[in-house]
Amino acid sequence: MTYSIVNDGVTPKPQTRVARALLDSVEDKQLYIDGDYRTPVSDAYLETTDPATGQVLARIPNAGAADVDAAVSAAREALHGPWASLTPLQRSQVLNRIADLIDANMDELCELEVLEQGKPYYVARWAEIPAAANQFRFFAGQALSLDGNTVNTSINYQPEGKQVQAWTLRQPVGVVAAVTPWNSPLILTAMKIAPALAAGCTVVHKPAELTSLSALRLAELISEAGVPPGVVNVVTGDGASCGSALTSHKGIDKIAFTGSTATGRAIVEASKKYLTKVTLELGGKSPALVLPDADLELVIAGIANGIFFNAGQVCVANSRTYIHRSIFDKVVKGIAAYAESMQMGHGLDQATQMGPVVSIEQAQKIEAFIEQAKAKGAKVLCGGIRLGENGTYIAPTVVTNTSPDMPIHCEEVFGPVLVAEPYDDLDEALAWCNASDYGLAASIWTQDLSATHRLSRQLDAGTVWINCHSMFDAALPIGGIKMSGYGRDSGKQALDNYLEWKTVCAVI
Ligand code: NAD
Repeated sequence: MTYSIVNDGVTPKPQTRVARALLDSVEDKQLYIDGDYRTPVSDAYLETTDPATGQVLARIPNAGAADVDAAVSAAREALHGPWASLTPLQRSQVLNRIADLIDANMDELCELEVLEQGKPYYVARWAEIPAAANQFRFFAGQALSLDGNTVNTSINYQPEGKQVQAWTLRQPVGVVAAVTPWNSPLILTAMKIAPALAAGCTVVHKPAELTSLSALRLAELISEAGVPPGVVNVVTGDGASCGSALTSHKGIDKIAFTGSTATGRAIVEASKKYLTKVTLELGGKSPALVLPDADLELVIAGIANGIFFNAGQVCVANSRTYIHRSIFDKVVKGIAAYAESMQMGHGLDQATQMGPVVSIEQAQKIEAFIEQAKAKGAKVLCGGIRLGENGTYIAPTVVTNTSPDMPIHCEEVFGPVLVAEPYDDLDEALAWCNASDYGLAASIWTQDLSATHRLSRQLDAGTVWINCHSMFDAALPIGGIKMSGYGRDSGKQALDNYLEWKTVCAVI
Protein backbone atom coordinates (compact mmCIF):
# COMPACT_ATOMS: atom_id res chain seq x y z
CA MET A 1 0.00 0.00 0.00
CA THR A 2 1.41 3.41 -0.97
CA TYR A 3 0.16 6.17 1.26
CA SER A 4 -0.38 9.70 0.04
CA ILE A 5 -1.00 12.93 1.86
CA VAL A 6 -3.21 15.56 0.29
CA ASN A 7 -1.71 19.07 0.58
CA ASP A 8 1.53 17.75 2.04
CA GLY A 9 3.56 20.76 3.17
CA VAL A 10 0.89 23.15 1.90
CA THR A 11 -1.73 25.03 3.89
CA PRO A 12 -5.15 25.34 2.25
CA LYS A 13 -6.51 28.88 2.51
CA PRO A 14 -8.47 29.40 5.73
CA GLN A 15 -11.95 30.93 5.62
CA THR A 16 -11.55 33.28 8.55
CA ARG A 17 -9.59 36.51 8.87
CA VAL A 18 -8.03 35.47 12.21
CA ALA A 19 -6.67 32.21 10.80
CA ARG A 20 -5.37 33.97 7.67
CA ALA A 21 -3.61 36.56 9.85
CA LEU A 22 -1.83 33.77 11.75
CA LEU A 23 -0.43 32.43 8.50
CA ASP A 24 0.58 35.89 7.22
CA SER A 25 2.71 37.05 10.14
CA VAL A 26 4.07 35.73 13.42
CA GLU A 27 2.53 37.74 16.22
CA ASP A 28 3.60 37.77 19.87
CA LYS A 29 0.57 36.80 21.93
CA GLN A 30 -0.04 38.11 25.43
CA LEU A 31 -1.33 36.74 28.71
CA TYR A 32 -4.95 37.40 29.60
CA ILE A 33 -5.08 38.71 33.15
CA ASP A 34 -7.76 40.72 34.94
CA GLY A 35 -9.76 41.27 31.77
CA ASP A 36 -6.88 42.55 29.70
CA TYR A 37 -3.95 41.40 27.62
CA ARG A 38 -0.53 41.79 29.26
CA THR A 39 3.02 41.35 28.05
CA PRO A 40 4.68 38.68 30.21
CA VAL A 41 7.03 39.86 32.96
CA SER A 42 9.09 36.76 32.14
CA ASP A 43 9.77 38.20 28.67
CA ALA A 44 10.05 34.60 27.47
CA TYR A 45 8.19 33.12 24.49
CA LEU A 46 7.51 29.75 22.87
CA GLU A 47 6.59 29.12 19.26
CA THR A 48 3.24 27.64 18.23
CA THR A 49 3.45 25.80 14.92
CA ASP A 50 1.16 24.11 12.42
CA PRO A 51 2.09 20.43 12.84
CA ALA A 52 1.18 19.66 9.22
CA THR A 53 3.74 22.07 7.76
CA GLY A 54 5.96 23.20 10.61
CA GLN A 55 5.03 26.83 9.90
CA VAL A 56 5.29 29.06 12.98
CA LEU A 57 1.84 30.55 13.67
CA ALA A 58 2.54 32.74 16.71
CA ARG A 59 4.77 33.16 19.72
CA ILE A 60 3.05 32.62 23.05
CA PRO A 61 4.36 33.88 26.40
CA ASN A 62 6.17 31.36 28.56
CA ALA A 63 4.78 32.80 31.78
CA GLY A 64 6.93 32.68 34.90
CA ALA A 65 6.20 32.92 38.62
CA ALA A 66 5.54 36.70 38.57
CA ASP A 67 2.98 36.35 35.75
CA VAL A 68 1.25 33.46 37.49
CA ASP A 69 1.21 35.50 40.70
CA ALA A 70 -0.54 38.37 38.92
CA ALA A 71 -3.16 36.03 37.45
CA VAL A 72 -3.83 34.30 40.78
CA SER A 73 -4.15 37.69 42.55
CA ALA A 74 -6.64 38.85 39.92
CA ALA A 75 -8.67 35.65 40.33
CA ARG A 76 -8.62 35.92 44.13
CA GLU A 77 -9.73 39.56 44.03
CA ALA A 78 -12.55 38.67 41.60
CA LEU A 79 -13.79 35.87 43.85
CA HIS A 80 -15.50 38.41 46.08
CA GLY A 81 -16.34 40.90 43.32
CA PRO A 82 -19.43 41.31 41.12
CA TRP A 83 -19.34 37.65 39.97
CA ALA A 84 -20.12 36.53 43.52
CA SER A 85 -23.19 38.72 43.79
CA LEU A 86 -24.95 37.62 40.60
CA THR A 87 -28.16 35.67 41.06
CA PRO A 88 -28.16 32.09 39.75
CA LEU A 89 -30.31 33.25 36.84
CA GLN A 90 -27.87 36.02 35.91
CA ARG A 91 -24.93 33.61 36.09
CA SER A 92 -26.81 31.11 34.00
CA GLN A 93 -27.58 33.75 31.38
CA VAL A 94 -23.89 34.66 31.14
CA LEU A 95 -22.98 31.00 30.62
CA ASN A 96 -25.58 30.71 27.87
CA ARG A 97 -24.15 33.82 26.22
CA ILE A 98 -20.67 32.21 26.21
CA ALA A 99 -22.19 29.21 24.43
CA ASP A 100 -23.89 31.48 21.89
CA LEU A 101 -20.62 33.34 21.28
CA ILE A 102 -18.78 30.05 20.69
CA ASP A 103 -21.44 29.17 18.12
CA ALA A 104 -21.22 32.62 16.54
CA ASN A 105 -17.42 32.29 16.22
CA MET A 106 -17.48 28.62 15.26
CA ASP A 107 -15.53 28.90 12.00
CA GLU A 108 -12.74 30.88 13.56
CA LEU A 109 -12.40 28.60 16.62
CA CYS A 110 -12.41 25.53 14.37
CA GLU A 111 -9.70 26.93 12.13
CA LEU A 112 -7.55 27.93 15.12
CA GLU A 113 -7.73 24.39 16.49
CA VAL A 114 -7.06 22.82 13.09
CA LEU A 115 -4.02 25.02 12.55
CA GLU A 116 -2.39 24.59 15.94
CA GLN A 117 -3.36 20.99 16.70
CA GLY A 118 -3.53 19.41 13.25
CA LYS A 119 -7.01 17.90 13.64
CA PRO A 120 -9.27 17.50 10.59
CA TYR A 121 -11.80 20.29 10.22
CA TYR A 122 -14.76 17.93 10.71
CA VAL A 123 -13.45 16.86 14.13
CA ALA A 124 -13.50 20.47 15.29
CA ARG A 125 -16.68 21.50 13.47
CA TRP A 126 -18.96 18.55 14.15
CA ALA A 127 -17.63 17.21 17.42
CA GLU A 128 -15.41 19.32 19.61
CA ILE A 129 -16.31 23.02 19.28
CA PRO A 130 -20.10 22.48 19.40
CA ALA A 131 -19.48 20.22 22.40
CA ALA A 132 -17.58 23.07 24.07
CA ALA A 133 -20.60 25.34 23.60
CA ASN A 134 -22.84 22.60 25.02
CA GLN A 135 -20.74 22.37 28.17
CA PHE A 136 -21.57 26.03 28.87
CA ARG A 137 -25.26 25.42 28.11
CA PHE A 138 -25.41 22.38 30.37
CA PHE A 139 -23.74 24.18 33.27
CA ALA A 140 -25.93 27.23 32.68
CA GLY A 141 -28.76 24.90 33.66
CA GLN A 142 -26.85 23.51 36.63
CA ALA A 143 -26.17 27.05 37.91
CA LEU A 144 -29.91 27.39 38.49
CA SER A 145 -30.19 24.43 40.79
CA LEU A 146 -27.39 24.70 43.33
CA ASP A 147 -28.80 23.95 46.74
CA GLY A 148 -28.06 22.57 50.18
CA ASN A 149 -30.31 20.66 52.59
CA THR A 150 -32.00 21.18 55.88
CA VAL A 151 -30.90 18.50 58.31
CA ASN A 152 -32.82 17.00 61.21
CA THR A 153 -30.27 16.45 63.98
CA SER A 154 -30.38 14.40 67.18
CA ILE A 155 -28.42 16.91 69.27
CA ASN A 156 -29.77 16.67 72.81
CA TYR A 157 -27.65 19.24 74.63
CA GLN A 158 -29.19 22.46 73.35
CA PRO A 159 -30.10 25.00 76.04
CA GLU A 160 -33.38 24.39 77.85
CA GLY A 161 -36.36 25.46 75.76
CA LYS A 162 -34.34 25.95 72.60
CA GLN A 163 -34.15 24.00 69.39
CA VAL A 164 -31.35 23.16 66.99
CA GLN A 165 -31.84 24.15 63.41
CA ALA A 166 -29.16 22.87 60.97
CA TRP A 167 -28.65 23.16 57.25
CA THR A 168 -25.97 22.90 54.60
CA LEU A 169 -24.84 25.42 52.01
CA ARG A 170 -22.93 24.77 48.81
CA GLN A 171 -20.33 27.43 48.15
CA PRO A 172 -17.66 27.91 45.49
CA VAL A 173 -14.39 26.19 46.29
CA GLY A 174 -12.49 29.37 45.39
CA VAL A 175 -9.75 30.03 42.85
CA VAL A 176 -9.35 27.15 40.38
CA ALA A 177 -6.18 26.34 38.44
CA ALA A 178 -7.35 24.63 35.24
CA VAL A 179 -4.50 22.87 33.44
CA THR A 180 -5.34 21.30 30.08
CA PRO A 181 -3.65 19.21 27.34
CA TRP A 182 -3.24 19.70 23.60
CA ASN A 183 -5.33 16.94 22.04
CA SER A 184 -8.76 18.58 22.21
CA PRO A 185 -7.98 22.03 23.57
CA LEU A 186 -11.28 23.91 23.61
CA ILE A 187 -13.65 21.17 24.71
CA LEU A 188 -11.35 20.11 27.55
CA THR A 189 -11.07 23.76 28.62
CA ALA A 190 -14.85 24.16 28.56
CA MET A 191 -15.18 21.05 30.74
CA LYS A 192 -13.29 22.91 33.48
CA ILE A 193 -14.33 26.54 33.06
CA ALA A 194 -18.07 25.96 32.60
CA PRO A 195 -18.70 24.10 35.90
CA ALA A 196 -16.23 26.37 37.74
CA LEU A 197 -18.20 29.45 36.62
CA ALA A 198 -21.54 27.80 37.37
CA ALA A 199 -20.34 27.18 40.91
CA GLY A 200 -19.21 30.81 41.33
CA CYS A 201 -15.46 30.09 41.27
CA THR A 202 -12.81 32.13 39.52
CA VAL A 203 -10.22 30.52 37.25
CA VAL A 204 -6.63 30.72 36.12
CA HIS A 205 -6.36 28.56 33.01
CA LYS A 206 -3.09 27.18 31.69
CA PRO A 207 -3.59 25.64 28.26
CA ALA A 208 -1.00 23.30 26.74
CA GLU A 209 2.00 25.11 25.30
CA LEU A 210 1.39 23.56 21.86
CA THR A 211 -2.23 24.75 21.65
CA SER A 212 -2.94 28.02 23.45
CA LEU A 213 -4.52 30.09 20.68
CA SER A 214 -8.12 28.92 21.06
CA ALA A 215 -7.92 29.36 24.85
CA LEU A 216 -6.79 32.97 24.45
CA ARG A 217 -9.67 33.59 22.04
CA LEU A 218 -12.16 31.90 24.37
CA ALA A 219 -11.07 34.25 27.17
CA GLU A 220 -12.14 37.20 24.99
CA LEU A 221 -15.51 35.60 24.27
CA ILE A 222 -16.00 34.92 27.97
CA SER A 223 -15.38 38.59 28.68
CA GLU A 224 -17.69 39.65 25.83
CA ALA A 225 -20.41 37.49 27.37
CA GLY A 226 -20.30 39.62 30.53
CA VAL A 227 -17.95 37.74 32.85
CA PRO A 228 -16.24 40.43 34.96
CA PRO A 229 -12.46 41.02 34.74
CA GLY A 230 -10.33 38.64 36.79
CA VAL A 231 -12.90 35.83 36.86
CA VAL A 232 -11.19 33.94 34.01
CA ASN A 233 -7.48 34.49 33.38
CA VAL A 234 -5.21 32.68 30.92
CA VAL A 235 -1.51 32.12 31.51
CA THR A 236 0.36 30.37 28.73
CA GLY A 237 3.64 28.52 28.88
CA ASP A 238 5.23 25.18 29.51
CA GLY A 239 4.80 22.85 32.45
CA ALA A 240 8.21 23.47 33.98
CA SER A 241 7.79 27.23 34.20
CA CYS A 242 4.12 28.21 34.08
CA GLY A 243 2.40 24.94 35.07
CA SER A 244 4.47 24.24 38.14
CA ALA A 245 4.30 27.89 39.34
CA LEU A 246 0.51 27.70 39.06
CA THR A 247 -0.09 24.31 40.65
CA SER A 248 2.23 25.02 43.59
CA HIS A 249 0.78 28.50 44.23
CA LYS A 250 -0.64 29.15 47.70
CA GLY A 251 -3.48 31.22 46.25
CA ILE A 252 -4.99 28.26 44.39
CA ASP A 253 -7.81 26.40 46.15
CA LYS A 254 -8.34 23.66 43.60
CA ILE A 255 -6.42 22.18 40.68
CA ALA A 256 -8.49 20.74 37.84
CA PHE A 257 -6.07 18.82 35.65
CA THR A 258 -6.36 16.93 32.38
CA GLY A 259 -3.23 15.41 30.93
CA SER A 260 -0.82 12.52 31.24
CA THR A 261 -0.54 10.27 34.25
CA ALA A 262 3.11 11.31 34.72
CA THR A 263 2.19 15.00 34.96
CA GLY A 264 -0.79 14.11 37.18
CA ARG A 265 1.63 12.58 39.63
CA ALA A 266 3.84 15.73 39.57
CA ILE A 267 0.75 17.84 40.24
CA VAL A 268 -0.25 15.73 43.23
CA GLU A 269 3.28 16.28 44.57
CA ALA A 270 2.95 20.05 44.00
CA SER A 271 -0.43 20.08 45.74
CA LYS A 272 0.94 18.59 48.94
CA LYS A 273 2.51 21.80 50.24
CA TYR A 274 -0.77 23.66 50.77
CA LEU A 275 -3.00 20.56 50.58
CA THR A 276 -4.66 22.01 47.48
CA LYS A 277 -7.62 19.95 46.26
CA VAL A 278 -6.98 18.08 43.02
CA THR A 279 -9.02 16.27 40.41
CA LEU A 280 -7.21 14.35 37.70
CA GLU A 281 -8.35 13.29 34.22
CA LEU A 282 -5.40 11.23 33.04
CA GLY A 283 -4.30 8.77 30.39
CA GLY A 284 -5.87 5.53 29.28
CA LYS A 285 -5.38 2.26 27.41
CA SER A 286 -9.03 1.57 26.80
CA PRO A 287 -10.08 -1.87 25.59
CA ALA A 288 -12.85 -2.82 23.18
CA LEU A 289 -14.25 -6.31 23.68
CA VAL A 290 -15.91 -7.84 20.62
CA LEU A 291 -18.17 -10.85 21.19
CA PRO A 292 -18.84 -13.45 18.46
CA ASP A 293 -22.42 -12.28 17.83
CA ALA A 294 -21.50 -8.62 17.24
CA ASP A 295 -22.81 -6.70 14.22
CA LEU A 296 -19.61 -6.73 12.16
CA GLU A 297 -20.37 -3.67 10.07
CA LEU A 298 -20.97 -1.65 13.22
CA VAL A 299 -17.84 -3.09 14.87
CA ILE A 300 -15.51 -2.33 11.97
CA ALA A 301 -16.60 1.29 11.57
CA GLY A 302 -16.93 1.83 15.33
CA ILE A 303 -13.53 0.41 16.29
CA ALA A 304 -11.78 2.18 13.39
CA ASN A 305 -13.37 5.49 14.32
CA GLY A 306 -12.63 4.92 18.00
CA ILE A 307 -8.89 4.69 17.34
CA PHE A 308 -8.30 6.83 14.23
CA PHE A 309 -10.48 9.83 15.19
CA ASN A 310 -8.20 12.84 15.84
CA ALA A 311 -5.27 10.61 14.81
CA GLY A 312 -5.78 8.51 17.93
CA GLN A 313 -4.99 11.45 20.21
CA VAL A 314 -8.04 10.83 22.35
CA CYS A 315 -7.71 9.81 26.00
CA VAL A 316 -10.46 7.17 25.69
CA ALA A 317 -9.39 5.79 22.26
CA ASN A 318 -9.92 2.02 22.00
CA SER A 319 -6.24 1.31 21.58
CA ARG A 320 -6.59 -2.37 22.59
CA THR A 321 -9.22 -4.55 20.98
CA TYR A 322 -9.94 -8.16 21.88
CA ILE A 323 -11.99 -9.94 19.22
CA HIS A 324 -13.48 -13.45 19.40
CA ARG A 325 -11.35 -15.77 17.28
CA SER A 326 -14.34 -16.87 15.14
CA ILE A 327 -14.64 -13.34 13.65
CA PHE A 328 -11.12 -12.03 14.22
CA ASP A 329 -9.84 -12.22 10.63
CA LYS A 330 -12.95 -10.64 9.18
CA VAL A 331 -12.92 -7.75 11.66
CA VAL A 332 -9.22 -6.89 11.44
CA LYS A 333 -9.29 -7.10 7.64
CA GLY A 334 -12.28 -4.76 7.65
CA ILE A 335 -10.54 -2.28 9.99
CA ALA A 336 -7.35 -2.41 7.90
CA ALA A 337 -9.35 -1.72 4.73
CA TYR A 338 -11.07 1.20 6.47
CA ALA A 339 -7.66 2.51 7.61
CA GLU A 340 -6.17 2.27 4.11
CA SER A 341 -9.10 4.15 2.64
CA MET A 342 -8.71 7.15 4.95
CA GLN A 343 -7.65 10.41 3.34
CA MET A 344 -4.70 11.89 5.18
CA GLY A 345 -3.96 15.55 4.75
CA HIS A 346 -4.00 19.05 6.12
CA GLY A 347 -6.96 19.52 8.44
CA LEU A 348 -8.09 22.67 6.61
CA ASP A 349 -8.90 20.51 3.57
CA GLN A 350 -12.50 19.61 4.35
CA ALA A 351 -12.10 16.14 2.83
CA THR A 352 -9.33 15.19 5.25
CA GLN A 353 -10.22 12.28 7.51
CA MET A 354 -6.93 12.10 9.40
CA GLY A 355 -4.40 14.87 9.96
CA PRO A 356 -0.89 14.83 11.35
CA VAL A 357 -0.22 14.20 15.02
CA VAL A 358 0.50 17.26 17.12
CA SER A 359 4.30 17.45 16.78
CA ILE A 360 7.37 15.77 15.39
CA GLU A 361 8.24 14.56 18.90
CA GLN A 362 4.82 12.90 19.23
CA ALA A 363 5.23 11.26 15.79
CA GLN A 364 8.66 9.95 16.75
CA LYS A 365 7.30 8.57 20.01
CA ILE A 366 4.53 6.70 18.18
CA GLU A 367 6.98 5.42 15.56
CA ALA A 368 9.24 4.09 18.33
CA PHE A 369 6.33 2.10 19.84
CA ILE A 370 5.66 0.51 16.43
CA GLU A 371 9.32 -0.25 15.68
CA GLN A 372 9.87 -1.77 19.10
CA ALA A 373 6.79 -3.99 18.71
CA LYS A 374 7.92 -5.10 15.23
CA ALA A 375 11.35 -6.01 16.59
CA LYS A 376 9.66 -8.23 19.17
CA GLY A 377 7.55 -10.09 16.61
CA ALA A 378 4.39 -8.02 16.32
CA LYS A 379 2.73 -8.06 12.90
CA VAL A 380 1.73 -4.76 11.27
CA LEU A 381 -1.39 -5.31 9.14
CA CYS A 382 -1.51 -1.79 7.77
CA GLY A 383 0.18 1.58 8.30
CA GLY A 384 3.12 1.44 10.69
CA ILE A 385 4.99 4.25 8.99
CA ARG A 386 5.71 7.93 9.54
CA LEU A 387 5.05 10.19 6.59
CA GLY A 388 4.91 13.77 5.38
CA GLU A 389 7.34 16.53 4.57
CA ASN A 390 7.29 17.62 8.18
CA GLY A 391 7.40 14.00 9.43
CA THR A 392 4.26 14.38 11.53
CA TYR A 393 1.82 11.98 9.84
CA ILE A 394 1.41 8.41 11.06
CA ALA A 395 -0.46 6.15 8.67
CA PRO A 396 -3.43 4.54 10.48
CA THR A 397 -1.99 1.35 11.91
CA VAL A 398 -3.30 -2.06 12.96
CA VAL A 399 -0.93 -4.35 14.88
CA THR A 400 -1.47 -7.97 15.93
CA ASN A 401 0.60 -10.73 17.44
CA THR A 402 1.54 -8.60 20.43
CA SER A 403 1.95 -9.74 24.01
CA PRO A 404 0.50 -7.96 27.04
CA ASP A 405 3.91 -6.86 28.28
CA MET A 406 4.86 -5.06 25.04
CA PRO A 407 4.74 -1.25 25.53
CA ILE A 408 2.48 -0.94 22.46
CA HIS A 409 -0.02 -3.25 24.20
CA CYS A 410 0.07 -1.84 27.74
CA GLU A 411 1.18 1.81 27.50
CA GLU A 412 -0.66 4.81 26.13
CA VAL A 413 0.60 5.37 22.55
CA PHE A 414 -1.68 8.37 21.91
CA GLY A 415 -1.63 7.91 18.16
CA PRO A 416 -3.57 6.11 15.39
CA VAL A 417 -2.37 2.66 16.42
CA LEU A 418 -4.74 -0.23 17.16
CA VAL A 419 -3.57 -3.38 18.89
CA ALA A 420 -5.98 -6.22 17.96
CA GLU A 421 -5.79 -9.72 19.45
CA PRO A 422 -8.07 -12.77 19.24
CA TYR A 423 -9.55 -14.53 22.28
CA ASP A 424 -11.26 -17.86 22.82
CA ASP A 425 -12.65 -17.52 26.32
CA LEU A 426 -14.70 -14.47 27.31
CA ASP A 427 -13.65 -14.51 30.97
CA GLU A 428 -10.02 -14.61 29.91
CA ALA A 429 -10.60 -11.65 27.57
CA LEU A 430 -12.31 -9.75 30.39
CA ALA A 431 -9.26 -10.39 32.56
CA TRP A 432 -7.01 -9.00 29.77
CA CYS A 433 -9.20 -5.89 29.58
CA ASN A 434 -8.81 -5.31 33.31
CA ALA A 435 -5.09 -6.16 33.44
CA SER A 436 -4.10 -2.55 32.96
CA ASP A 437 -2.82 0.23 35.19
CA TYR A 438 -5.44 2.43 33.53
CA GLY A 439 -9.20 2.44 33.90
CA LEU A 440 -10.61 5.23 31.78
CA ALA A 441 -13.06 3.63 29.33
CA ALA A 442 -14.05 0.39 27.60
CA SER A 443 -16.54 -0.79 25.02
CA ILE A 444 -18.48 -4.01 24.54
CA TRP A 445 -19.70 -5.09 21.11
CA THR A 446 -22.49 -7.67 21.17
CA GLN A 447 -26.23 -8.14 20.73
CA ASP A 448 -26.46 -10.19 23.92
CA LEU A 449 -28.26 -7.99 26.46
CA SER A 450 -27.32 -10.13 29.45
CA ALA A 451 -23.64 -10.03 28.47
CA THR A 452 -23.70 -6.22 28.24
CA HIS A 453 -25.15 -5.93 31.75
CA ARG A 454 -22.68 -8.37 33.28
CA LEU A 455 -19.61 -7.03 31.47
CA SER A 456 -20.40 -3.36 32.00
CA ARG A 457 -20.32 -4.02 35.75
CA GLN A 458 -17.16 -6.11 35.56
CA LEU A 459 -15.01 -3.85 33.39
CA ASP A 460 -12.58 -1.60 35.29
CA ALA A 461 -13.46 1.69 33.62
CA GLY A 462 -15.02 5.07 34.33
CA THR A 463 -17.17 4.76 31.19
CA VAL A 464 -18.42 1.66 29.37
CA TRP A 465 -19.92 2.00 25.91
CA ILE A 466 -22.07 -0.69 24.32
CA ASN A 467 -21.96 -1.08 20.52
CA CYS A 468 -20.25 2.31 20.27
CA HIS A 469 -17.10 4.01 21.51
CA SER A 470 -16.25 7.64 22.36
CA MET A 471 -19.81 8.92 22.73
CA PHE A 472 -19.77 12.09 24.83
CA ASP A 473 -22.38 14.46 26.09
CA ALA A 474 -22.27 17.38 28.49
CA ALA A 475 -24.72 15.50 30.73
CA LEU A 476 -22.50 12.39 30.96
CA PRO A 477 -19.70 12.31 33.56
CA ILE A 478 -16.29 11.32 32.21
CA GLY A 479 -13.23 10.27 34.18
CA GLY A 480 -11.27 7.27 35.27
CA ILE A 481 -10.29 4.84 37.97
CA LYS A 482 -6.86 3.39 38.80
CA MET A 483 -4.09 5.45 37.18
CA SER A 484 -6.55 7.21 34.87
CA GLY A 485 -7.23 9.62 37.72
CA TYR A 486 -9.97 10.65 40.11
CA GLY A 487 -12.96 12.97 39.99
CA ARG A 488 -15.26 13.49 37.04
CA ASP A 489 -15.54 16.16 34.38
CA SER A 490 -18.81 16.84 32.59
CA GLY A 491 -22.24 15.89 33.90
CA LYS A 492 -23.73 17.22 37.10
CA GLN A 493 -21.09 15.24 39.03
CA ALA A 494 -18.45 17.72 37.79
CA LEU A 495 -19.99 20.48 39.89
CA ASP A 496 -18.88 18.65 43.03
CA ASN A 497 -15.28 19.51 42.08
CA TYR A 498 -16.02 23.21 42.36
CA LEU A 499 -18.26 23.36 45.42
CA GLU A 500 -17.68 23.02 49.14
CA TRP A 501 -20.29 21.88 51.62
CA LYS A 502 -20.70 24.25 54.56
CA THR A 503 -22.67 23.14 57.61
CA VAL A 504 -24.61 25.74 59.57
CA CYS A 505 -25.97 24.78 62.95
CA ALA A 506 -28.09 27.22 64.97
CA VAL A 507 -29.76 27.23 68.34
CA ILE A 508 -33.04 29.10 68.00
P1 NAD B 1 0.82 16.55 29.65
O1 NAD B 1 0.59 15.89 30.96
O2 NAD B 1 2.17 16.54 29.06
O3 NAD B 1 0.40 18.09 29.74
C1 NAD B 1 -0.88 18.49 30.16
C2 NAD B 1 -0.78 19.90 30.72
O4 NAD B 1 0.01 19.89 31.90
C3 NAD B 1 -0.12 20.89 29.77
O5 NAD B 1 -0.78 22.13 29.88
C4 NAD B 1 1.29 20.97 30.33
O6 NAD B 1 1.98 22.15 30.02
C5 NAD B 1 1.03 20.87 31.82
N1 NAD B 1 2.17 20.44 32.62
C6 NAD B 1 3.22 19.67 32.23
N2 NAD B 1 4.05 19.49 33.29
C7 NAD B 1 3.51 20.16 34.33
C8 NAD B 1 3.90 20.34 35.69
N3 NAD B 1 5.01 19.80 36.19
N4 NAD B 1 3.11 21.07 36.49
C9 NAD B 1 1.96 21.62 36.02
N5 NAD B 1 1.55 21.49 34.75
C10 NAD B 1 2.31 20.77 33.91
O7 NAD B 1 -0.27 15.93 28.68
P2 NAD B 1 -0.40 16.19 27.11
O8 NAD B 1 0.70 15.46 26.44
O9 NAD B 1 -0.62 17.63 26.88
O10 NAD B 1 -1.81 15.47 26.81
C11 NAD B 1 -1.95 14.14 26.53
C12 NAD B 1 -2.37 13.37 27.76
O11 NAD B 1 -3.60 13.89 28.26
C13 NAD B 1 -2.63 11.91 27.47
O12 NAD B 1 -2.07 11.13 28.48
C14 NAD B 1 -4.15 11.81 27.50
O13 NAD B 1 -4.67 10.55 27.80
C15 NAD B 1 -4.48 12.81 28.55
N6 NAD B 1 -5.88 13.22 28.43
C16 NAD B 1 -6.78 12.77 29.35
C17 NAD B 1 -8.14 13.09 29.23
C18 NAD B 1 -9.17 12.58 30.21
O14 NAD B 1 -10.30 13.08 30.21
N7 NAD B 1 -8.85 11.62 31.05
C19 NAD B 1 -8.56 13.89 28.16
C20 NAD B 1 -7.60 14.32 27.23
C21 NAD B 1 -6.26 13.98 27.39
